[in-house]
Amino acid sequence: MTAVSVPSATTSFDLGPARALSCRECGNETPLAPEYACYECFGPLEVAYDFGRVRREDIESGPQSIWRYRSLLPVPTNVASHPNLEPGNTRLIEADRLAKALGLRKVWVKDDTGNPTHSFKDRVVGVALAAARELGFKVLACPSTGNLANAVAAAATRAGWQSVVLVPSSLEQAKILMTAVYDGALITIDGNYDDVNRVAQELAAENEDWAFVNVNVRPYYAEGSKTLGFEVAEQLGWRLPEQIVVPIASGSQLTKVDKAFRELGSLDLVEATPYKVFGAQATGCAPVATAFKAGHDVITPVRPDTIARSLAIGVPADGPYALDSVRRTGGTIEDVSDEEVVEGIRLLARTEGIFAETAGGVTVATAKKLVETGQLDPDAETVLLITGDGLKTLDAVSHKVGPKANVPPSAEAVINALKG
Ligand SMILES: *Cc1c(COP(=O)(O)O)cnc(C)c1O
Ligand SMILES: [Zn+2]
Repeated sequence: MTAVSVPSATTSFDLGPARALSCRECGNETPLAPEYACYECFGPLEVAYDFGRVRREDIESGPQSIWRYRSLLPVPTNVASHPNLEPGNTRLIEADRLAKALGLRKVWVKDDTGNPTHSFKDRVVGVALAAARELGFKVLACPSTGNLANAVAAAATRAGWQSVVLVPSSLEQAKILMTAVYDGALITIDGNYDDVNRVAQELAAENEDWAFVNVNVRPYYAEGSKTLGFEVAEQLGWRLPEQIVVPIASGSQLTKVDKAFRELGSLDLVEATPYKVFGAQATGCAPVATAFKAGHDVITPVRPDTIARSLAIGVPADGPYALDSVRRTGGTIEDVSDEEVVEGIRLLARTEGIFAETAGGVTVATAKKLVETGQLDPDAETVLLITGDGLKTLDAVSHKVGPKANVPPSAEAVINALKG
């Protein structure tokens, strides 16, 4: 690795509206820097802002990517002028056929499979890289459950940076190849994600010139998830939905979608109407759902065992904050079996023509369960976040779907097969 100067905490950085880092536990503030834990209490740090006046017109006339929201993100004003993957601006689809199948009046699907590396992780990595550049880094790194690996390797290459990506060796083949093809340094580790994450924490402490997107620059990275909330609100015509179902891995995305909705309301970009945030997990890795149902504030770690590998974080860093968001807004958290996940993938595909990865199956199946158990209001407008592409997890459905028939090359054989 090329040595770069270690970023200094005393330099002042141009990170747009970001003012400081503040501790989520004790509120202590520190200057903007590549830090992630509070000096006072070791609590996680979060970006604090001084937003100027932000107008809808300025956002609407911005780039067709997450950078249209740069005045709400910890990134330099000129962020869009550096080569980047231009993530975001994905479709919000009116999903009437899915709504009917689920027994809901109105459903919108936020289809984040349309991002450059086919998952929502391009959003968080885009913001992490932009902040990391300003903070003086030149190497992008991460521990990943798969999608983050794809996003980091691609974004680093596009920016002309080196990348170091660590993943569990049991990862889906598609996610390994989709990372390796960008030619960064990909290391597979014999262990689960939580083992990989522990190794990354050690490496981040020893290699201060590596920006581990979800470790030492995590406060900036996490803000990228707000763009999902911003986009949903803008695409609905600058208003908030009544219910939103969000998949949970570390829990970061869920808390930031909530934060985005609150910021839009407090900046008068939307009317601050009430909304409920619902969390979705796979039963084989449901530490946040379990804590929610038990009424606990602390999360008991689990050893993941589910086909939803992109959500398989047994020690979810933002789990307690996800619980806060869900409880404050009046939502709930449910979990679904691997069998239901596969059915969720198939239901979304056959009703709306969207092929989601297992995390999307978790969201759809959880929505179904939430309706059936009376937790989702069938009359309230509902948004489902579909965060990754089914081409990355083909194994999940390979034993369930396939050709109707294999026939000799004759029209008659095809007709007969269609009758059968
Ligand atoms: C990472 C990921 C999530 C959620 O991530 P959080 O850690 O909870 O922010 C959701 N869906 C997919 C496909 C992901 O890769
Ligand atoms: Zn603190």
